[in-house]
Amino acid sequence: MRQCDVAIIGAGPYGLSAAAHLATMRGLGIRVFGQPMSFWDRSMPVGMFLRSGWSATHIADPRGSLKLEAYQAASGNHFSKPVPLNSFIQYGLWYQRQAIPQLDQRKVARVESDAKGFRLLLEDGEVVSPRRVIVAAGIGSFARRPKEFQGLPSSLASHTSEHRHLQRFAGKRVLVIGGGQSALESGALLHEGGAQVEIIVRSRSIHWLQGVASTALHYGLGKFTSRLLYAPTDVGPAGISQLMARPDLLRRLPRELQTKLWKRSVRPAGSRWLVARLQDVPIRLGRSVVSVVPVGQSVKVRLDDGSERTVDHILLGTGYRVDISKYEFLAPELARSIQHSNGYPWLKEGLETSVPGLHILGAPAAWSFGPLMQFVSGARYASQALMRAIARD
Ligand SMILES: Cc1cc2nc3c(=O)[nH]c(=O)nc-3n(C[C@H](O)[C@H](O)[C@H](O)COP(=O)(O)OP(=O)(O)OC[C@H]3O[C@@H](n4cnc5c(N)ncnc54)[C@H](O)[C@@H]3O)c2cc1C
Repeated sequence: MRQCDVAIIGAGPYGLSAAAHLATMRGLGIRVFGQPMSFWDRSMPVGMFLRSGWSATHIADPRGSLKLEAYQAASGNHFSKPVPLNSFIQYGLWYQRQAIPQLDQRKVARVESDAKGFRLLLEDGEVVSPRRVIVAAGIGSFARRPKEFQGLPSSLASHTSEHRHLQRFAGKRVLVIGGGQSALESGALLHEGGAQVEIIVRSRSIHWLQGVASTALHYGLGKFTSRLLYAPTDVGPAGISQLMARPDLLRRLPRELQTKLWKRSVRPAGSRWLVARLQDVPIRLGRSVVSVVPVGQSVKVRLDDGSERTVDHILLGTGYRVDISKYEFLAPELARSIQHSNGYPWLKEGLETSVPGLHILGAPAAWSFGPLMQFVSGARYASQALMRAIARD
């Protein structure tokens, strides 16, 4: 059995950033588990671009020496915005090699609490006993599959997170469900890859980012005004962006107002650079699916306007719904003892759950610290808050 002060579960942007920050704390024994950048590498489609802007795509490190520019200089891999998925993955892997060369790529199979702290069971049976556990396991466990599609086999309906290569649908009829970035970009990639695509969007319009007003506020009024209105973390519209970048302030506001601001900041939206790529793809707005019936190798789909179509596959760009009880590695007893609202843990300073010594970073922290936590750019706040909490201990 191995003892350590802190174990970090997950080596995506949040786990890597937290590890890099905690590594600066003298005498703290840290172990970090998980395959680096694996969610980005396995659950996002080849050919994708990041929606977040340049300033919001650096993985935070304590010295500011591991930014995208540093990676470009070291690797010779030059790219600009929008950042291509593969370049971001390579950047994350480079960051890991620089900051956490001692990463242990094994999966954590089980986390339990015991009298002295926690007990982690690794996939090969080894046991580690940390005093604190930092869960930075991302949203991969939370893919949302609406109930009307749940009875279909995965050959007929799948979630966007299940695909790395959308080219496998070349020549097939694919119905994409959803009006956010993931659905729209998948639609574009499918179309470009030779599939016959139609996109069904429940809302009556698509919210395209980087519109005329936002572009004018970002670039037209000069750098000074732009910086006043938009924080580099780039979550939320003009003005609200500054509040979202300050979770300690945001969490003091009444819950109702926080919820309103959250919805305003991260509603389903598509990057403007997708508009041209989707001009030949039919998009049905204000429609939803009322029935799906498998017919041999295909599926018959009926919409609420009475129209029907038969397709080879339904691709669900229906996003993610946080529910920490779906983290399979959390022992049920431990998961039950975490106080939560609608699947989001209640977190106090240092992103600590109601179980002392158990912290949760990333999207599950959004209920307590705002929508910034759903994005790479929130890792700086999370890592620094974690350091402060551990230093106080
Ligand atoms: C299609 C898509 C596009 C996106 N685009 C952007 C964007 O442009 N900009 C942006 O800021 N955000 C974007 N996001 C959101 C993005 O998911 C988060 O910003 C980011 O992944 C958060 O990092 P994380 O470290 O919390 O999670 P992840 O990157 O998911 O990392 C979690 C890691 O934990 C590992 N893990 C899980 N369970 C275990 C276990 N039991 N043992 C060991 N390891 C484990 C996983 O394998 C994974 O590598 C996008 C999301 C999607 C789905």
